[in-house]
This record gives sequence, structure tokens and C-alpha cells, in this order.
Amino acid sequence: MRVLKFGGTSVGSPENMRAVMKLVADGEKKIIVLSAMSGTTNGLVEISSFLRKKNKDSARITIGNLEATYKKVVAELFKTEENKQKGLEVVKASFKTIKSHTAGTFTDVGENTILAQGEIISTNLVTLLMNENGFNAKLLPALDFMKIDEDKAADTNFIREHIKPVLEEVGEADYYITQGFICRDVNGDINNLQRGGSDYTASLIGAAIDAEEIQIWTDIDGFHNNDPRFVEKTKKIEQLSFTEAAELAYFGAKILHPLTVLPARVQNIPVRLKNTMNPSDSGTLITSESDGMGIKAVAAKDGITAIKIRSGRMLMAYGFLKNVFGIFEKYRTPIDMISTSEVAVSLTVDSTQHLSEIMEELSMFGTVHVDYGMSIVCIVGDIIEEEKGFASKVFNALDGIPIRMISYGGSRHNISILVPESRKKETLVALSKNLLNN
Ligand code: ADP
Ligand code: ASP
Ligand code: MG
Repeated sequence: MRVLKFGGTSVGSPENMRAVMKLVADGEKKIIVLSAMSGTTNGLVEISSFLRKKNKDSARITIGNLEATYKKVVAELFKTEENKQKGLEVVKASFKTIKSHTAGTFTDVGENTILAQGEIISTNLVTLLMNENGFNAKLLPALDFMKIDEDKAADTNFIREHIKPVLEEVGEADYYITQGFICRDVNGDINNLQRGGSDYTASLIGAAIDAEEIQIWTDIDGFHNNDPRFVEKTKKIEQLSFTEAAELAYFGAKILHPLTVLPARVQNIPVRLKNTMNPSDSGTLITSESDGMGIKAVAAKDGITAIKIRSGRMLMAYGFLKNVFGIFEKYRTPIDMISTSEVAVSLTVDSTQHLSEIMEELSMFGTVHVDYGMSIVCIVGDIIEEEKGFASKVFNALDGIPIRMISYGGSRHNISILVPESRKKETLVALSKNLLNN
């Protein structure tokens, strides 16, 4: 069985929902993972942030606008009065849930419950649409099998054990439609896989059912060799290895949630990126095979903080790095890049949640200096065996860019540089022109 995921734009209007229906309804049994309609999760995030700030009036206005949008969608989507009524009930039920959290103290569970409504509405509407058009589609409730553990990591064992009984309970169907993004946590409360998490849902499900292929359908023809939001004339890549795609996704390529590739790689399931608006295009295929040597693409990740610890005690000493890493481990803060000299170590993190505690503890080892607002720009491919002069090509391409850190040699697939966020676009453009020959 294949797992097909459709993103926000792909289900972003009644017309697009119908296009998705036509695309999937080929008689082959499949699991279809849907995101919320585009703009919805941002709207729900806005509602939650108003409620956090106790700004109930603004929350109610945004809720009213979003509900009105959905009522229009329902009116356009269905043919019969009966189905229009059923569609309205779906919308009303979700908005009743959202409104119930506008009273009393606003909690994390309230926020996560609100954020989940986008996917709950889109999947219910598309299931109803497919049924109205005579297809045997059934809703597969993601909250019954998608789960994260105490570290907020996907509980792959739980998902694998629970998805099959849920499929059986739902009963025979040609098309199983389920919610991306949403899950339950260890307390059984509604939670999610972070923004863009529907891609990750698809690969977790794909791995859990040993799917033959995981397809991510979106609004672009595949993985491009640079970020099309910042750079013109980017080119589609036909094939990437799991490692290359994982590096690019982790380092900011928005087309894939950072963790999407991992479950697929473990089970060796091909991942194909496809364009819902242009289904005949071959898209990008991600497998264990690399498409040869050389640089494939660049990507950038914002919101990075660089920390430098300078210490005389580091000279000729061992155990220094262990102590430094121990502090990051204690605060469960992952480190992305690292670079050392005889007297100092620089590293980067993308979470500032425990930064003040971390800095306080690090200051026992030396002087700590922090740079906020940095971007990691990551150059990915199968690089080590490329022709001589590769490093000089990269550095020539970056002429004039202020580089704060460089990481090279950690693997043959990645060179990362750290630049101020304000210089990211210029860096991506320079790499496109001088390195990727776009
Ligand atoms: P969806 O809602 O379908 O999940 P996303 O907006 O999350 O879609 O991801 C698709 C978008 O990712 C594209 O429209 C494009 O702007 C952006 N993007 C960023 N980097 C890349 C890249 N390297 N290749 C393709 N698209 C990219
Ligand atoms: N709807 C969620 C978001 O906007 C999940 C997703 O689209 O993948 O982040
Ligand atoms: Mg996405």
C-alpha cells in the first residue's frame, strides 16, 4: 500500500480538494494523509496567541472570520443539501471545541486542541466529498494511533502496534483518509509533530505499515537545488539519497519537515515528492541511492544562536568538551554545529529555551559570548570525492560574505557555514550563481 500526503495548498480550496479526489481515486487501496487547508494553522496559532495574551475579543474576531471561510467552503464543496448539512456539522463541531477554550484559563492542552482542528476539518470534509462522489473512503482517526513520547519524539513502536487494529476497526475501504500533524502525548492529551508535521505523519505511517512508497504532494514540482522563496531560477533535483534529503530538510528546506526522511530510511521506503498542480511531472525521488558525486543543493535554517566559550583551561587539557556537552545534555538542548580552537569552542543551538541556565553553567569554564539571529547555510551533496579545489570553489563563491563558523568534514554530505540572518539571502543567491550555476 502507498501513503500519499497532501499539503495545505493541495487541499486549500474546494477546487483543489476535488483535484486531490481525482488524483487518489484510481482504485488502488491507499492511506491519504491531509494537512489543514492553507492558512488555517496560522489562523489557529493566531487565535491561541490572542488567548494566551487574554485578548479574547481579538480571538473571537479571528474565530468568526475563520468559521465564515469554512462555511463558504462547505457551500461550494458539496452537491446535495444533505451533504452540505453534514459538512456544516463538521465545521460547527470543531468551532464549538475552539470556542470552548476561550473561557477560563488557557492551557497548553487548550492550544494543542485548537491547533488540531484544521486537520480534523479537512479530513472530514474530503472523506465526505469522496463518499458523495461514490468512492469507498473512510476516516482513519490519527489520534487513535499517532503518539509522541516524553521527549516529544514519535513513538514508532506505539504507532506500528496501533495502526493495524485501528485500520481493522474502521473496516474495509479503498481510501483511508487521516490527519497529518496531530497526535497524542504520554498523558493522552492532543499534541502535534510541530509545524509542517504532516510530512512526518506520512513517513511514520509509511514505515509502520511497510508501505511500498511514501508520496509527499505539494505546490512545487519537487526538491529544488536552492530555496525558491529567496532565490530565482532554482532547479528541480530528480533524485536524492536519504542522507542528502535528510540533511537538506534538517537544515531548513521547507518542502520537507526536518524528520520526514528518517522513518523511511530505516525501512528503506522510497519517498517521492510530487506537484498536485502538475501530477504528470516525475517529481523528486528519494531512495538509498545517490545520483552521483557533486553538490546537489543548498538550504538555510534561521533562528540559530551561536555560543562561544573561551577558556585558558582548554589548552592541552582533556575532558573540557565533555563538560561543555554535559551542560547541553542536562538541558536537553541539541547542538547543530561545532568548531574548536586551542582556546575556545563555538557551537550553535536552535532552541533558546534554557539558554540563560546553560550560559550560567558554561561561565564556570570561561568567558561566554552569544550571537543571536544567525542562519546555518548548508551545502549538501556527495562531495568529498569531487575534483580538487572544491573547498576553494565554495569559498570563492562566498566572497564578501561574513562567515561566523564553518563545519566541513563531519560527513561527506554536508558543509555548513554560519552567517548573520540578515546576510542569508545574499549567501543563497551567491551560492546559486557561483556554485550551482542556476
Ligand atoms: P505543504 O503545505 O504542501 O506542506 P510547504 O509550504 O510546507 O507545502 O512546502 C512547499 C514549499 O517549500 C514550496 O512552495 C517552496 O516555497 C518551499 N521550499 C523551500 N525550500 C525548497 C526546496 N529546496 N525545494 C522546493 N521547495 C522548497
Ligand atoms: N497544518 C500544519 C502546519 O501548517 C501541518 C502541516 O501542514 O504539515 O504546520
Ligand atoms: Mg509542509
